[in-house]
Amino acid sequence: LPVLAVVGRPNVGKSTLVNRVLGRREAVVQDTPGVTRDRVSYPAEWAGRRFTLVDTGGWEVDVAGMHAAVAQQAEVAVDLADAVLFVVDATVGPTDTDEQVVRLLRRSGKPVVLVANKVDSPMQEADAATLWSLGLGEPWPVSALHGRGSGDVLDEAIRVLPETSSVADRMPEGGPRRVALVGRPNVGKSSLLNKLAGSERVVVDEVAGTTRDPVDELIELDGTPWWFVDTAGIRRRVHQTSGADYYASLRTRAAIEKAEVGVVLVDSSVPMTEQDTRVIQQVIDAGRALVIAYNKWDLMDEDRRAYLEREIDLDLVQVRWAPRVNLSARTGWHTNRLTNALETALASWDTRIPTGRLNAFLGELTAAHPHPVRGGRQPRILFATQASNRPPRFVVFATGFLEAGYRRFIENRLREAFEFTGTPIEISVRVRE
Ligand code: GDP
Repeated sequence: LPVLAVVGRPNVGKSTLVNRVLGRREAVVQDTPGVTRDRVSYPAEWAGRRFTLVDTGGWEVDVAGMHAAVAQQAEVAVDLADAVLFVVDATVGPTDTDEQVVRLLRRSGKPVVLVANKVDSPMQEADAATLWSLGLGEPWPVSALHGRGSGDVLDEAIRVLPETSSVADRMPEGGPRRVALVGRPNVGKSSLLNKLAGSERVVVDEVAGTTRDPVDELIELDGTPWWFVDTAGIRRRVHQTSGADYYASLRTRAAIEKAEVGVVLVDSSVPMTEQDTRVIQQVIDAGRALVIAYNKWDLMDEDRRAYLEREIDLDLVQVRWAPRVNLSARTGWHTNRLTNALETALASWDTRIPTGRLNAFLGELTAAHPHPVRGGRQPRILFATQASNRPPRFVVFATGFLEAGYRRFIENRLREAFEFTGTPIEISVRVRE
């Protein structure tokens, strides 16, 4: 769903506006700096259009001065939004902080609707007019408190909001979760698919809320249906003609894009190849959850097994975080362990860490293990927020550039602390003077 973010200084009425959009009557959250809320995005609907509403009010934590806090909050919101509602207090008029946010918004190129809030009566509409000076076009006069004008501003927001999100995931919502079974030729994909499908083929129409794509198959594992996407390429064995590799890799990519989790099948009877690694990397680059399955385990004797375990540990050093299942598509051995691995990986992929918890964790971690001093300077981490999930993406604000080793350290500790098993995570660092 497209994402609409509400951005603005504290006390301009963002939360009141959010509550109005959501049609909530209950407790308006106090819009004061320092108040942190865990929930930042809400499913919303206006005039039949569904979208995700992001409330940035919860990010007003105490970092060096309000100016910076508002700018950071706006920056993150803009990163993850498809359009922005920029709320300004018309009774105050444009402030320096507002101007600063405007620069950020302009740079983003995202559509912006300028909300002149606290225009409680027609008499105050002249106040709204002063906001033309921000250079964001027409200010929309609104009284978030009384509802005046809020319908019009939402109509406008819907008008500028793209149909599909360029930032949120494009996966259909609801219904069974989507798996791509991938791997180089002959690792046993079609054997595994057949084994899993077995007699458990599900009648598609029985599952509500699913969009049928003829190349996807619904397969029930331990009583839960899963979409195995783009299986046509697996079932239809293509002749090795020139370009076959290219098409195989295109198909792999398409399958991964369509899925939430990729199972990369590897043939354990032969050494791992660069092609295997490439498929694993494709899943990671696409930002999907990852499970690695070592097939043909039935070919192994005890000695070879012990040896192989060590080999595998070395091969997979970069993706130690991915759940691994050793199985045999031929005998069916351990194929039942896939479900658990898939669920673990997806749970990590879905994770959202509340801003408060994240910062408490990072605060302790960086106090105990500060960044090394470099050239007389020592960058400090000020604040972090999880910008989105699926996969988890974090934005860390720091006083200077964080070196690669330290970033990896943070990533590894985040993985341990929040059990990110089977999902890539992204950490981007913004430098603040
Ligand atoms: P795909 O190209 O990845 O779909 O691979 P296939 O499913 O066609 O399997 C390639 C070959 O490996 C076939 O000869 C299979 O019979 C064999 N194979 C697949 N899985 C296993 C397994 O678990 N054990 C053994 N021994 N052979 C397997």
